[in-house]
Amino acid sequence: MNASSVSTPQHILSSVFGFDSFRASQQAIIDTVISGNNTLAIMPTGGGKSLCYQIPALTFDGLTVVISPLISLMQDQVRQLHELNIASCVLNSTLSTQEYQGNLEAITRGEMKLLFLAPETALQSASIDILKQTNVSCVAIDEAHCISEWGHEFRPEYRQLDRFIAHFEGAVLLALTATATPRVRQDIKHQLGIADNNEFVADFDRPNLYLAVAIKDSPYEQAKSFIDQHQSMSGIIYCQSRASVDELSKKLQRDGYKALAYHAGLSSDKRSAHQEQFVKDDVDIIVATIAFGMGINKPDVRFVLHYDLPKNIESYYQQIGRAGRDGLDADCLLLFAYGDTGKIRFFIEQMQNEHEQRLATMHLNQMLALAETEDCRRVPLLQYFDAEYSDSQCHKCDNCLNPQTEKSDLTVVAQKFLSCVHRTGQVFGASHVIDVLRGSNAEKVLQNRHNLLSTYGIGTELSKKEWMALSRQLIQKGLLRQEAQFGSLKLTQNAVDVLKGQTRFLARLQQHQSASNYQASQSDLSPNAQLVAILKATRKSLADEANVPPYAVFADRSLQEMAHFLPQSQESFLKIHGVGQAKVDKYGASFIALITEFCEENELQEQTNNARASATKSGKAKVSGISEKSVNIVREFEAGTSADELAQHHGVKLNTIFSHLYKYVLSGKALTQTDGLVQQIDLPESMLDKGITSFDEHGHERLKPVYEALGEQATYEQLHLLRVYYLHSKLTQ
Ligand code: ADP
Ligand code: MG
Ligand code: ZN
Repeated sequence: MNASSVSTPQHILSSVFGFDSFRASQQAIIDTVISGNNTLAIMPTGGGKSLCYQIPALTFDGLTVVISPLISLMQDQVRQLHELNIASCVLNSTLSTQEYQGNLEAITRGEMKLLFLAPETALQSASIDILKQTNVSCVAIDEAHCISEWGHEFRPEYRQLDRFIAHFEGAVLLALTATATPRVRQDIKHQLGIADNNEFVADFDRPNLYLAVAIKDSPYEQAKSFIDQHQSMSGIIYCQSRASVDELSKKLQRDGYKALAYHAGLSSDKRSAHQEQFVKDDVDIIVATIAFGMGINKPDVRFVLHYDLPKNIESYYQQIGRAGRDGLDADCLLLFAYGDTGKIRFFIEQMQNEHEQRLATMHLNQMLALAETEDCRRVPLLQYFDAEYSDSQCHKCDNCLNPQTEKSDLTVVAQKFLSCVHRTGQVFGASHVIDVLRGSNAEKVLQNRHNLLSTYGIGTELSKKEWMALSRQLIQKGLLRQEAQFGSLKLTQNAVDVLKGQTRFLARLQQHQSASNYQASQSDLSPNAQLVAILKATRKSLADEANVPPYAVFADRSLQEMAHFLPQSQESFLKIHGVGQAKVDKYGASFIALITEFCEENELQEQTNNARASATKSGKAKVSGISEKSVNIVREFEAGTSADELAQHHGVKLNTIFSHLYKYVLSGKALTQTDGLVQQIDLPESMLDKGITSFDEHGHERLKPVYEALGEQATYEQLHLLRVYYLHSKLTQ
């Protein structure tokens, strides 16, 4: 790569990286850095921070020094940059003397564009002396929250970096982090002398992550079924303790899954071996404690499963953030059990510092609010980052995709449960109370003579599982308090009101739907799965040959686009996402040959691809936001296929079909045909009109107000379709 200073960022993005557009904030950050202003970039994990220094580095005459906390992160970057033919290297103790010398010489000759250094290496006087003899144009500090004592990963050497920076006054400074807390941000800016108006905070929403929570009732079975929905895809399972990591990974291995364990109790050799096998797609699943993550950049992690409840939203967000960095859909499922809360509370109670204790409790409560909400999960998630979620519905969480069935009056069963808590003396957990209610002969019941209570055996109408669900609702809605250490239940004033019959208790028993029937929509394109498999196998062998991870050869999305557009010339190959000149030169021939052969065998033709007019021009044909899949579904719907039939044909839930239709009209496209739609809505004209007026009045974001306005006479299915009809009518008025 020769550093042509005439290249614009857009040109580099397209010709070197093979991407067609910048993500939010990237352009502004890059422009600010190139103009020579010290900058702070705050972007979520997977947001694309690396590009913010890589592109400026290619426009600068001199060297860009990147400070990074972990050797594995540096090596990963260099491997990927080498795949793009960008001159870059590391200096650290893992290098042989010869390699080290070689790198040093290349740096002093001015041949390197990027140099990656650990902070301790940067602070050594030997490094400083060498670098002072070269032209350093930019210093980028990755994972900059390590500077701050307020951050969760404080590194004392990071705090001394001002000493390093002082030697390179002419260099522009860029600090990057995913930590958004104001205090840490303030600290970084103060330490590094960055002006407030050169701080950029990207959108923290990760719209390609599907979020779901399921009640943890049979965790191992739930985990298996979730994994089975993502066959031969990469995923991470987070557990609370090392012991459960070991146990779960062994069980999965025994059942034939390609899974490995990762936690701080393993030797560092073992840890890096497991990490490497995961990165190279030799295993699919890593079962890990929170120790796993920061060192990996794998962009194609397709699922993250939380086997236990995270302590706070910050860790939850960070962990789910490791999925779908490549921007393709990824699934995040949290298995939620009330028992896990008790364990965390117990842990919090052990804390010495009262202030920390209060903070931890607050953070846990925020996490619980997310796990228990009946509304969009993105609202509490983004609230945590002080980022208001502008839509009330994201269409990418379990609650949004499965609008709630209505609440029912559960006053009578609630009274039974509460009075049984009272009769048993408010010292037992839910399980015992339920045994009493259901008339069990368990020893504990008989020992305590609870078979003599008036509430013994009065609750056979609900199953144990249903009673458990009810007890969680009673806790969640503040009628019961659960003591942290032993999980015993106590009544609150709210409970007394319900017991006296002064307030009614409305709730849903089946609050959370299991994630098992969620079908991941892996790609918006409908690539030929067989060809994708062929391309993947080739990618893997080329990657092994070059000793790089498969994603450094091509991203999943690139393979999917290849299988969709079937490029058979260098020119059209260049239009594929993630394909720049270096990739064409290295791998173009092999992949084009495979695609050509496949097309001949299957009598297929190359498809027109307008994504990037040409990789060498700054092409910018921007997506309309509507996927091809959506369009296909809408076409079939217009042709008279009912939503039910569509759901069946496509193997997705009815709500997914509604969501495709909704998004389509929401994007400003009218339907060509609405006869079938009106028929399916199947409401009398008066109600139809009333519904339309009510959408006018309440907006179309939520269905509930319209449901109520129609006297609860229409079903939610009907309302979904009515909303599509409503938006369509607005467009054609
Ligand atoms: P971060 O450091 O913020 O966690 P990375 O820099 O590792 O994120 O980028 C995550 C992924 O996003 C990488 O696979 C990268 O290639 C991809 N990416 C970054 N910017 C773009 C873009 N503008 N278009 C397409 N992909 C991008
Ligand atoms: Mg990064
Ligand atoms: Zn949502």
